[in-house]
Amino acid sequence: MYEMIIVGAGPAGISMAAEARTVGIPSEHILILEKGDTHSWAIRKFYPASKVVLANYKGIDAICTGVMCIADMSKEETLTYIDRTIEQYELSVHYNETVHGIRPLQEEGFEVATSKRSYQAQRCVIAIGILDKPNKPAYRIPVSLNTRVHYDLTSAVLENEDCLVVGGGDTASEYCQYLVEHGNRVTLSYRQTEFSRLNRINHESLMALEQRGQVTILRGSNINQLLEESGRARVVFEEEKFQPQSFGHIVYALGGTTPTNFLKAIGIAFEGTMPIVKEGYETSVPGLYLIGDLSAGKKGGSINLAFNMAAEAMQSICGRSPEICRE
Ligand SMILES: Cc1cc2nc3c(=O)[nH]c(=O)nc-3n(C[C@H](O)[C@H](O)[C@H](O)COP(=O)(O)OP(=O)(O)OC[C@H]3O[C@@H](n4cnc5c(N)ncnc54)[C@H](O)[C@@H]3O)c2cc1C
Repeated sequence: MYEMIIVGAGPAGISMAAEARTVGIPSEHILILEKGDTHSWAIRKFYPASKVVLANYKGIDAICTGVMCIADMSKEETLTYIDRTIEQYELSVHYNETVHGIRPLQEEGFEVATSKRSYQAQRCVIAIGILDKPNKPAYRIPVSLNTRVHYDLTSAVLENEDCLVVGGGDTASEYCQYLVEHGNRVTLSYRQTEFSRLNRINHESLMALEQRGQVTILRGSNINQLLEESGRARVVFEEEKFQPQSFGHIVYALGGTTPTNFLKAIGIAFEGTMPIVKEGYETSVPGLYLIGDLSAGKKGGSINLAFNMAAEAMQSICGRSPEICRE
Protein backbone atom coordinates (compact mmCIF):
# COMPACT_ATOMS: atom_id res chain seq x y z
CA MET A 1 0.00 0.00 0.00
CA TYR A 2 1.34 3.42 -1.01
CA GLU A 3 1.37 6.26 1.53
CA MET A 4 0.00 8.55 -1.16
CA ILE A 5 -1.38 8.20 -4.66
CA ILE A 6 -1.63 11.40 -6.64
CA VAL A 7 -3.88 11.53 -9.70
CA GLY A 8 -2.62 13.92 -12.39
CA ALA A 9 0.93 15.07 -13.16
CA GLY A 10 0.23 18.76 -13.69
CA PRO A 11 1.60 21.56 -11.48
CA ALA A 12 -0.64 20.51 -8.57
CA GLY A 13 0.19 16.79 -8.70
CA ILE A 14 3.93 17.24 -9.16
CA SER A 15 4.19 19.82 -6.35
CA MET A 16 2.15 17.56 -4.06
CA ALA A 17 4.71 14.79 -4.54
CA ALA A 18 7.60 17.26 -4.06
CA GLU A 19 6.04 18.41 -0.76
CA ALA A 20 5.61 14.80 0.35
CA ARG A 21 9.27 14.06 -0.42
CA THR A 22 10.32 17.21 1.46
CA VAL A 23 8.63 16.06 4.68
CA GLY A 24 10.47 12.74 4.39
CA ILE A 25 8.08 10.33 2.66
CA PRO A 26 10.28 7.96 0.62
CA SER A 27 9.96 8.07 -3.14
CA GLU A 28 8.77 4.45 -3.38
CA HIS A 29 5.77 5.25 -1.13
CA ILE A 30 4.40 7.93 -3.47
CA LEU A 31 2.87 7.20 -6.87
CA ILE A 32 1.69 9.71 -9.46
CA LEU A 33 -0.71 8.47 -12.15
CA GLU A 34 -0.96 10.51 -15.34
CA LYS A 35 -3.16 9.81 -18.33
CA GLY A 36 -0.90 11.64 -20.79
CA ASP A 37 2.41 10.37 -22.10
CA THR A 38 4.24 13.16 -20.28
CA HIS A 39 3.61 15.55 -17.37
CA SER A 40 1.64 18.82 -17.63
CA TRP A 41 -0.65 17.74 -20.45
CA ALA A 42 -2.87 20.83 -20.05
CA ILE A 43 0.03 23.30 -20.24
CA ARG A 44 1.35 21.62 -23.37
CA LYS A 45 -2.06 21.56 -25.06
CA PHE A 46 -3.55 24.92 -24.13
CA TYR A 47 -0.59 27.30 -23.89
CA PRO A 48 0.35 28.84 -27.25
CA ALA A 49 4.06 28.25 -28.01
CA SER A 50 5.21 31.84 -27.48
CA LYS A 51 3.13 32.42 -24.34
CA VAL A 52 4.63 34.16 -21.33
CA VAL A 53 3.64 32.15 -18.27
CA LEU A 54 2.67 34.74 -15.68
CA ALA A 55 3.49 34.23 -12.02
CA ASN A 56 0.47 36.30 -10.96
CA TYR A 57 -1.98 34.83 -13.48
CA LYS A 58 -5.57 36.05 -12.99
CA GLY A 59 -4.21 38.60 -10.56
CA ILE A 60 -3.52 35.89 -7.97
CA ASP A 61 -0.60 37.11 -5.80
CA ALA A 62 2.68 35.43 -6.80
CA ILE A 63 3.54 34.53 -3.20
CA CYS A 64 4.86 31.01 -2.73
CA THR A 65 4.45 29.07 0.49
CA GLY A 66 5.82 25.67 -0.53
CA VAL A 67 8.88 24.19 -2.21
CA MET A 68 7.84 25.07 -5.77
CA CYS A 69 7.46 28.56 -7.22
CA ILE A 70 7.55 30.17 -10.66
CA ALA A 71 8.47 33.70 -11.72
CA ASP A 72 7.33 35.00 -15.14
CA MET A 73 8.87 32.61 -17.66
CA SER A 74 8.31 30.95 -21.03
CA LYS A 75 6.22 27.83 -21.63
CA GLU A 76 9.42 25.81 -22.25
CA GLU A 77 11.08 27.10 -19.06
CA THR A 78 7.99 26.17 -17.06
CA LEU A 79 8.02 22.62 -18.44
CA THR A 80 11.77 22.33 -17.81
CA TYR A 81 11.26 23.49 -14.21
CA ILE A 82 8.73 20.70 -13.71
CA ASP A 83 11.05 18.17 -15.45
CA ARG A 84 13.81 19.13 -13.01
CA THR A 85 11.49 18.82 -10.01
CA ILE A 86 10.59 15.25 -11.04
CA GLU A 87 14.29 14.47 -11.34
CA GLN A 88 15.41 16.25 -8.16
CA TYR A 89 12.80 14.63 -5.91
CA GLU A 90 13.04 11.27 -7.73
CA LEU A 91 9.30 11.19 -8.32
CA SER A 92 7.69 8.05 -9.64
CA VAL A 93 5.16 8.88 -12.37
CA HIS A 94 3.27 6.22 -14.32
CA TYR A 95 2.36 7.77 -17.67
CA ASN A 96 -0.40 6.64 -20.04
CA GLU A 97 -2.43 5.48 -17.08
CA THR A 98 -5.88 7.05 -16.74
CA VAL A 99 -7.59 6.81 -13.36
CA HIS A 100 -11.18 5.67 -13.86
CA GLY A 101 -12.29 5.38 -10.24
CA ILE A 102 -11.31 5.63 -6.58
CA ARG A 103 -13.03 3.55 -3.91
CA PRO A 104 -12.59 4.03 -0.16
CA LEU A 105 -11.65 0.69 1.44
CA GLN A 106 -13.57 -0.64 4.42
CA GLU A 107 -10.75 -0.54 6.99
CA GLU A 108 -8.62 2.33 5.75
CA GLY A 109 -7.21 3.72 2.54
CA PHE A 110 -8.34 3.61 -1.05
CA GLU A 111 -8.34 1.43 -4.12
CA VAL A 112 -7.45 3.32 -7.27
CA ALA A 113 -8.51 1.74 -10.56
CA THR A 114 -6.68 2.77 -13.72
CA SER A 115 -6.78 1.83 -17.38
CA LYS A 116 -4.03 -0.74 -16.62
CA ARG A 117 -4.55 -2.12 -13.10
CA SER A 118 -5.48 -1.12 -9.56
CA TYR A 119 -3.44 0.15 -6.62
CA GLN A 120 -4.00 0.76 -2.94
CA ALA A 121 -3.01 3.84 -0.95
CA GLN A 122 -3.47 5.24 2.53
CA ARG A 123 -4.51 8.60 1.09
CA CYS A 124 -5.28 10.03 -2.34
CA VAL A 125 -4.80 13.46 -3.82
CA ILE A 126 -6.80 14.30 -6.92
CA ALA A 127 -5.08 16.91 -9.08
CA ILE A 128 -6.68 16.41 -12.49
CA GLY A 129 -7.59 20.05 -13.18
CA ILE A 130 -10.60 21.15 -15.19
CA LEU A 131 -9.17 21.36 -18.70
CA ASP A 132 -9.84 17.76 -19.70
CA LYS A 133 -13.26 18.89 -20.94
CA PRO A 134 -13.15 22.44 -22.27
CA ASN A 135 -16.49 24.25 -22.03
CA LYS A 136 -18.45 24.17 -25.27
CA PRO A 137 -21.20 26.53 -26.42
CA ALA A 138 -24.86 25.60 -25.98
CA TYR A 139 -25.72 25.97 -29.69
CA ARG A 140 -25.07 23.16 -32.17
CA ILE A 141 -21.79 23.00 -34.03
CA PRO A 142 -22.23 21.38 -37.49
CA VAL A 143 -20.03 18.28 -37.87
CA SER A 144 -18.82 19.62 -41.20
CA LEU A 145 -17.11 22.45 -39.29
CA ASN A 146 -15.09 20.12 -37.06
CA THR A 147 -11.76 21.11 -38.61
CA ARG A 148 -12.71 24.80 -38.39
CA VAL A 149 -13.63 24.80 -34.70
CA HIS A 150 -10.87 24.80 -32.08
CA TYR A 151 -10.53 24.68 -28.30
CA ASP A 152 -6.75 25.22 -28.25
CA LEU A 153 -4.06 26.64 -30.51
CA THR A 154 -1.61 23.76 -30.48
CA SER A 155 -3.63 21.12 -32.38
CA ALA A 156 -3.76 23.03 -35.68
CA VAL A 157 -1.58 25.70 -37.30
CA LEU A 158 -3.61 28.87 -38.00
CA GLU A 159 -1.87 31.39 -40.23
CA ASN A 160 -3.26 34.08 -42.50
CA GLU A 161 -6.88 33.12 -41.70
CA ASP A 162 -10.04 34.96 -40.64
CA CYS A 163 -10.48 33.86 -37.03
CA LEU A 164 -13.19 34.50 -34.48
CA VAL A 165 -12.15 34.06 -30.85
CA VAL A 166 -15.02 33.54 -28.42
CA GLY A 167 -14.50 34.43 -24.75
CA GLY A 168 -13.42 37.31 -22.56
CA GLY A 169 -10.85 36.03 -20.09
CA ASP A 170 -7.06 35.93 -20.11
CA THR A 171 -7.03 32.91 -22.41
CA ALA A 172 -9.17 34.72 -25.01
CA SER A 173 -6.86 37.74 -24.91
CA GLU A 174 -3.75 35.55 -25.21
CA TYR A 175 -5.29 33.65 -28.13
CA CYS A 176 -5.99 36.98 -29.92
CA GLN A 177 -2.37 38.09 -29.37
CA TYR A 178 -1.02 34.77 -30.65
CA LEU A 179 -3.27 34.73 -33.73
CA VAL A 180 -2.33 38.32 -34.67
CA GLU A 181 1.38 37.44 -34.30
CA HIS A 182 0.78 34.63 -36.79
CA GLY A 183 -0.71 36.87 -39.44
CA ASN A 184 -4.39 36.12 -38.86
CA ARG A 185 -7.23 38.61 -39.10
CA VAL A 186 -8.87 38.40 -35.69
CA THR A 187 -12.32 39.22 -34.33
CA LEU A 188 -13.22 38.70 -30.67
CA SER A 189 -16.80 38.03 -29.56
CA TYR A 190 -17.44 38.67 -25.86
CA ARG A 191 -20.88 38.69 -24.29
CA GLN A 192 -20.00 41.37 -21.73
CA THR A 193 -19.29 44.99 -22.59
CA GLU A 194 -16.35 45.37 -20.14
CA PHE A 195 -13.30 43.11 -19.77
CA SER A 196 -13.34 42.88 -15.99
CA ARG A 197 -11.60 39.49 -15.67
CA LEU A 198 -8.38 40.28 -17.58
CA ASN A 199 -5.07 40.81 -15.84
CA ARG A 200 -3.34 44.14 -16.55
CA ILE A 201 -0.93 42.84 -19.20
CA ASN A 202 -3.57 40.97 -21.17
CA HIS A 203 -5.98 43.92 -20.91
CA GLU A 204 -3.39 46.40 -22.16
CA SER A 205 -2.27 44.09 -24.97
CA LEU A 206 -5.82 43.49 -26.18
CA MET A 207 -6.71 47.21 -26.11
CA ALA A 208 -3.50 48.02 -28.03
CA LEU A 209 -4.38 45.44 -30.70
CA GLU A 210 -7.85 46.94 -31.00
CA GLN A 211 -6.45 50.48 -31.30
CA ARG A 212 -4.07 49.39 -34.03
CA GLY A 213 -6.98 47.75 -35.88
CA GLN A 214 -5.46 44.27 -35.52
CA VAL A 215 -8.37 42.88 -33.51
CA THR A 216 -12.03 43.79 -33.94
CA ILE A 217 -13.91 43.43 -30.66
CA LEU A 218 -17.65 42.72 -30.71
CA ARG A 219 -18.54 43.78 -27.14
CA GLY A 220 -21.87 42.57 -25.82
CA SER A 221 -22.25 40.00 -28.60
CA ASN A 222 -23.89 36.58 -28.17
CA ILE A 223 -23.69 33.92 -30.84
CA ASN A 224 -27.04 32.41 -31.65
CA GLN A 225 -26.16 30.00 -34.45
CA LEU A 226 -23.17 28.54 -36.21
CA LEU A 227 -23.78 27.38 -39.78
CA GLU A 228 -21.63 25.99 -42.55
CA GLU A 229 -21.37 28.12 -45.65
CA SER A 230 -19.06 27.04 -48.50
CA GLY A 231 -16.80 25.25 -46.04
CA ARG A 232 -16.54 28.29 -43.72
CA ALA A 233 -18.30 29.08 -40.45
CA ARG A 234 -21.17 31.53 -40.71
CA VAL A 235 -21.88 33.12 -37.35
CA VAL A 236 -25.31 34.52 -36.56
CA PHE A 237 -25.53 36.80 -33.51
CA GLU A 238 -28.51 37.34 -31.23
CA GLU A 239 -28.11 41.10 -31.41
CA GLU A 240 -29.38 42.73 -34.60
CA LYS A 241 -26.57 45.30 -34.57
CA PHE A 242 -24.08 42.52 -35.32
CA GLN A 243 -24.59 41.32 -38.90
CA PRO A 244 -24.00 37.59 -39.61
CA GLN A 245 -20.33 37.09 -40.54
CA SER A 246 -18.31 34.32 -42.10
CA PHE A 247 -15.00 33.12 -40.59
CA GLY A 248 -12.40 30.58 -41.60
CA HIS A 249 -11.93 29.39 -38.02
CA ILE A 250 -13.63 29.72 -34.63
CA VAL A 251 -11.53 29.43 -31.48
CA TYR A 252 -13.38 28.95 -28.20
CA ALA A 253 -11.73 30.12 -24.95
CA LEU A 254 -14.53 29.34 -22.51
CA GLY A 255 -12.61 27.62 -19.70
CA GLY A 256 -13.08 24.10 -18.41
CA THR A 257 -15.53 22.02 -16.40
CA THR A 258 -15.26 20.31 -13.02
CA PRO A 259 -15.33 16.52 -13.60
CA THR A 260 -18.45 16.26 -11.44
CA ASN A 261 -19.43 12.68 -12.27
CA PHE A 262 -15.95 11.35 -11.50
CA LEU A 263 -15.84 13.13 -8.14
CA LYS A 264 -19.43 12.28 -7.15
CA ALA A 265 -18.89 8.59 -7.99
CA ILE A 266 -16.15 8.52 -5.32
CA GLY A 267 -18.62 9.92 -2.78
CA ILE A 268 -17.32 13.50 -2.54
CA ALA A 269 -20.04 15.90 -1.33
CA PHE A 270 -20.86 18.97 -3.43
CA GLU A 271 -22.37 22.34 -2.67
CA GLY A 272 -24.05 23.41 -5.89
CA THR A 273 -21.59 22.81 -8.69
CA MET A 274 -18.45 22.84 -6.53
CA PRO A 275 -16.99 19.99 -4.45
CA ILE A 276 -16.79 20.83 -0.75
CA VAL A 277 -13.24 21.06 0.55
CA LYS A 278 -12.23 21.63 4.15
CA GLU A 279 -9.01 22.87 5.70
CA GLY A 280 -5.99 21.50 3.84
CA TYR A 281 -8.19 20.75 0.79
CA GLU A 282 -9.57 17.54 2.29
CA THR A 283 -12.93 16.50 0.83
CA SER A 284 -15.92 15.06 2.68
CA VAL A 285 -14.21 11.67 2.24
CA PRO A 286 -11.50 11.47 4.94
CA GLY A 287 -8.02 11.01 3.47
CA LEU A 288 -9.06 12.22 0.00
CA TYR A 289 -7.78 15.63 -1.11
CA LEU A 290 -8.55 17.90 -4.09
CA ILE A 291 -5.95 20.44 -5.12
CA GLY A 292 -5.09 22.68 -8.08
CA ASP A 293 -7.72 24.00 -10.48
CA LEU A 294 -10.27 21.58 -9.04
CA SER A 295 -10.34 23.49 -5.76
CA ALA A 296 -9.73 26.98 -7.13
CA GLY A 297 -13.41 27.93 -7.40
CA LYS A 298 -15.18 29.93 -10.08
CA LYS A 299 -12.41 32.52 -10.52
CA GLY A 300 -10.05 29.80 -11.69
CA GLY A 301 -6.56 28.82 -10.63
CA SER A 302 -2.92 29.40 -11.42
CA ILE A 303 0.31 27.45 -11.25
CA ASN A 304 1.62 29.13 -8.09
CA LEU A 305 -1.79 28.71 -6.46
CA ALA A 306 -1.65 24.97 -7.28
CA PHE A 307 1.85 24.79 -5.72
CA ASN A 308 0.61 26.56 -2.56
CA MET A 309 -2.41 24.27 -2.26
CA ALA A 310 -0.07 21.27 -2.31
CA ALA A 311 1.99 22.79 0.53
CA GLU A 312 -1.16 23.41 2.59
CA ALA A 313 -2.52 19.92 1.95
CA MET A 314 0.82 18.42 3.05
CA GLN A 315 0.81 20.51 6.23
CA SER A 316 -2.65 19.25 7.03
CA ILE A 317 -1.67 15.62 6.35
CA CYS A 318 1.37 15.99 8.65
CA GLY A 319 -0.87 17.48 11.33
CA ARG A 320 -3.10 14.40 11.22
CA SER A 321 -0.42 11.76 10.65
CA PRO A 322 2.84 13.14 12.14
CA GLU A 323 4.39 9.65 12.03
CA ILE A 324 4.76 9.81 8.23
CA CYS A 325 6.37 13.27 8.25
CA ARG A 326 9.89 12.75 9.52
CA GLU A 327 11.62 15.94 8.36
C1 LIG B 1 -4.59 29.05 -22.02
C2 LIG B 1 -4.22 29.07 -20.57
C3 LIG B 1 -3.22 29.95 -20.13
C4 LIG B 1 -2.82 29.95 -18.79
N1 LIG B 1 -1.81 30.77 -18.39
C5 LIG B 1 -1.35 30.74 -17.12
C6 LIG B 1 -0.25 31.54 -16.70
O1 LIG B 1 0.31 32.33 -17.47
N2 LIG B 1 0.18 31.43 -15.41
C7 LIG B 1 -0.42 30.59 -14.51
O2 LIG B 1 0.01 30.54 -13.34
N3 LIG B 1 -1.50 29.83 -14.87
C8 LIG B 1 -1.96 29.87 -16.16
N4 LIG B 1 -3.04 29.09 -16.52
C9 LIG B 1 -3.69 28.26 -15.48
C10 LIG B 1 -2.85 27.03 -15.14
O3 LIG B 1 -2.47 26.36 -16.34
C11 LIG B 1 -3.64 26.10 -14.25
O4 LIG B 1 -4.09 26.80 -13.11
C12 LIG B 1 -2.77 24.91 -13.82
O5 LIG B 1 -2.33 24.18 -14.95
C13 LIG B 1 -3.56 23.99 -12.88
O6 LIG B 1 -2.78 22.88 -12.55
P1 LIG B 1 -3.46 21.49 -12.14
O7 LIG B 1 -2.31 20.59 -11.82
O8 LIG B 1 -4.53 21.72 -11.14
O9 LIG B 1 -4.22 20.97 -13.45
P2 LIG B 1 -3.70 20.65 -14.92
O10 LIG B 1 -2.56 21.52 -15.30
O11 LIG B 1 -4.93 20.68 -15.76
O12 LIG B 1 -3.12 19.16 -14.82
C14 LIG B 1 -3.96 18.05 -14.65
C15 LIG B 1 -3.24 16.79 -15.10
O13 LIG B 1 -4.06 15.67 -14.77
C16 LIG B 1 -4.09 14.76 -15.86
N5 LIG B 1 -5.34 14.00 -15.78
C17 LIG B 1 -6.60 14.44 -16.04
N6 LIG B 1 -7.50 13.46 -15.82
C18 LIG B 1 -6.79 12.36 -15.43
C19 LIG B 1 -7.15 11.03 -15.05
N7 LIG B 1 -8.44 10.63 -15.01
N8 LIG B 1 -6.16 10.15 -14.73
C20 LIG B 1 -4.86 10.54 -14.74
N9 LIG B 1 -4.46 11.80 -15.08
C21 LIG B 1 -5.41 12.69 -15.41
C22 LIG B 1 -3.99 15.66 -17.08
O14 LIG B 1 -3.51 14.95 -18.22
C23 LIG B 1 -3.00 16.74 -16.61
O15 LIG B 1 -1.65 16.41 -16.89
C24 LIG B 1 -3.47 29.08 -17.84
C25 LIG B 1 -4.48 28.22 -18.28
C26 LIG B 1 -4.85 28.21 -19.63
C27 LIG B 1 -5.93 27.26 -20.08
